Amino acid sequence: MIELVGNAHMHTVYSDGTATHLQIAEAAVRAGLDWVIVTDHNIWVKGVAGYYDNLLLLVGEEIHDCHRVPQANHLLVFGADCELVPLAPNPQAVIDAANERGALTFLAHPVEYASRLAREEALSWADWQVTGYTGIEVWNYMSEFKTRIPTVLHALWYAYTPIAGIRGPFPAALELWDQLSAGGQLVVGIGGADAHGNVYTLGPLRRTIFPYEYLLGAVNTHILVEEPLAGDMAADQAAIFDALRYGRAWVACDVLGSTCGFWFQARSGLEVATLGGEIGRAGAVTLEVTTPLPGRIQIVGNGRVIAHTAGRACKHLVTEAGAYRVQVYRGGKGWIFSNPIFVR
Ligand SMILES: [Zn+2]
Ligand SMILES: [Zn+2]
Repeated sequence: MIELVGNAHMHTVYSDGTATHLQIAEAAVRAGLDWVIVTDHNIWVKGVAGYYDNLLLLVGEEIHDCHRVPQANHLLVFGADCELVPLAPNPQAVIDAANERGALTFLAHPVEYASRLAREEALSWADWQVTGYTGIEVWNYMSEFKTRIPTVLHALWYAYTPIAGIRGPFPAALELWDQLSAGGQLVVGIGGADAHGNVYTLGPLRRTIFPYEYLLGAVNTHILVEEPLAGDMAADQAAIFDALRYGRAWVACDVLGSTCGFWFQARSGLEVATLGGEIGRAGAVTLEVTTPLPGRIQIVGNGRVIAHTAGRACKHLVTEAGAYRVQVYRGGKGWIFSNPIFVR
């Protein structure tokens, strides 16, 4: 399998971002990404998808009902290739229409907390009766960050040491993911920057705290595809979307050290499964994890940490059916969050 690194949540000047598509592509190239999906609020921008050097820029959308109070239920839609905003008041209708078109839908920042300093309310997902979505955004960099700035002093400190301002996905988001996976159905987890490139002013100080280039190298989604991107946009887009659809992916905080080369597999007899896959039990199943750098590796089975080790590898035997995923922390911060493998 070929590993591709990308980011699936960012905004341009078409909504509330500060960069054009071209500027985002340039920042993503500098950040070393292979693909990005631009997700402006409530507008699908046609005609800008394409290759910029070796980067493939795709265009999705972040849809929500502007008339709702609060404006919760942000839904990332990838690959609909049409405007679904008229359906926004009914998130289920957006999901259904996206599914009919073979598109993907992810609940953006499903768990969020109000920002005291920015006086922004929490925009968590609210309509939990929806079904049929592809997955959830387990870790949203900016959504996490805004809850980590209770005071002006914190904001000042993080403006110059941005990495100090993040810890990892909210525990409630991971718990939610485990609950959603408990039914045996794959709910794909992704990570995103939610980059806007906003300039913040504090007295005489004026600073872009999170330039696109920084954010696009931070909380990313790594995917596994069968072949390298070949320059055929339809085929390359399909490969990226399939990896996301089937959960051949992990959420990574690459500023803590590149997660390229991470591997998680399950073996049972001659059968092997990896991220997003499933495997039958012929007796026991061996779960194997390797990481490119040392970290605190935890294997989470059915919502509980069932094995942990410090280092670059972890092996564990399981005999129970369920959803098994891996999380790795480095220096106390979240580094890798894999999609689950289902043991049947
Ligand atoms: Zn949002
Ligand atoms: Zn957003």
